[in-house]
Amino acid sequence: MAAEKNARAASVLKKEDQIVIGGAGGFIAGALAKYFHDQGFTRIRAIDKKPLPEWYQRVPGAECLCMDLSEEANCKRACEDAVEVYNFAADMGGMGFIERFRIECLRSILINTHMIEAAYRAGAQRYFFSSSACAYNVELQKSPDCRALKESDAYPAMAERGYGWEKLMSEMFCQEYWAERGMETHIPRFHNVYGEPGTWDGGREKAPAAICRKVIEAKDTGDKEIVIWGDGHQTRSFMYIDDCIDGIDMIMHCDKLIATPINLGSDHLVSINELVSLAEEIGGIKLERKYDLDAPKGVGGRNSDNTFIKQVLGWEPSTPLKDGLAKTYAWIEQQYNDRKAGKRTVS
Ligand code: NAD
Repeated sequence: MAAEKNARAASVLKKEDQIVIGGAGGFIAGALAKYFHDQGFTRIRAIDKKPLPEWYQRVPGAECLCMDLSEEANCKRACEDAVEVYNFAADMGGMGFIERFRIECLRSILINTHMIEAAYRAGAQRYFFSSSACAYNVELQKSPDCRALKESDAYPAMAERGYGWEKLMSEMFCQEYWAERGMETHIPRFHNVYGEPGTWDGGREKAPAAICRKVIEAKDTGDKEIVIWGDGHQTRSFMYIDDCIDGIDMIMHCDKLIATPINLGSDHLVSINELVSLAEEIGGIKLERKYDLDAPKGVGGRNSDNTFIKQVLGWEPSTPLKDGLAKTYAWIEQQYNDRKAGKRTVS
C-alpha cells in the first residue's frame, strides 16, 4: 500500500518491479512508458495491437509486444509477473470517430474484461483503467455554459452512446474487483488530453490537434479558410499530456483513491472558437471561418469539476492552454513538413 500523501511510483515501487502498459503504441500510454523509463524503471512491458513501426514512441529497453489485448490469452501473457498494470488500450478517437464507430468503441470492453482478470490472476498489486468524461450523463452537458461535472454526475447513468457506456461498465468491473476480490484498482476519468506525440490526422484526431493541423494547412496552401465542426460555441477543457502523466502517477499510488472514479482534467473551459483563435495566434494568421453544422460535434459543453482531486491530492492540472498548445502546434508543424518531405510521421 502507498503510505505517504502524493506517493508516486518512484517512492512505492522497486526499480525492477514489472510494469505492464496496454495501448503503449498510442499517445498517453506511450508517454507513460517513457516517463517510467526516464525514472529508471527497468522492467516495462509495453503492448499494442499496432505493428511496432507504427507506435508513436518506443522506449529503449522496454519489452515491446504487438498483441491484440481483446484476446484472453494475450492478456495473460501481457500480465505475467506484473506488479502494476495500466490499461489504456481502446479503439477510440475524437468525436468524428466515437460518433461513427460505436460498435468498435463498445468492443473495447473485451480488452478491460480480459486485462483485469489477467492482472488479478497474475497477483498484480495495482490495476489502472483509463476512463473518460464521456462516462458522464449527457443530459448535464447540453449547453456550452454547463456547470462543471463532478464525480457523482455519472449516475443516474446516461453516458455517451457506445464509447461512454463502455467506460462506465469497465469502471464498474474495476470497482467490483476491489469489492469482491480485493485487487486495488484506480480509475481516473480523463477530460480531453492533448499534446505531442499524438494523433493529428486521419480521422481519430481530437479538436486541438485537428485545429492546429487546419491552421498549418491553411498557411501552407494559402487557402485562408478554416472549417470548424459545429457552430464553434461548444465548450471543452483541455489537459496537456505532462499534467496527465503526473496525475496518473499520483492517482495510481493514492490509497484514498482505490476503486474511486476521479476527474483528471483541466477546469479551464474554452469554446472551440476560442481554441481556433489561440491556434491562429500561435500560427500568426487570421482565417475565414466556415461552420459545418452537419459534422459531429459531441455534447454542447463539458468541463471538469476539480474539487475532489484538489481535496485528495492538493493538485490539479495547471499547464496553461496557450503554452501546451504552442508546443503541440510546433510539433504538428514539424510532422506536416516531414510528411511533405516524404519522411515517416505518426499519423
Ligand atoms: P490512442 O488511440 O493514442 O491509444 C490507444 C492505443 O490502444 C492505440 O495505440 C491502439 O492501437 C491501442 N489498442 C486499441 N485496441 C487494442 C487492442 N485490442 N489491443 C492492444 N492495443 C489496442 O489513445 P489515447 O489518447 O492515448 O487514449 C488512451 C486511453 O485514454 C484510452 O483508453 C482512451 O479511451 C482514454 N481517454 C483518452 C482521452 C484523450 O483525450 N486522449 C480522453 C479520455 C479518455
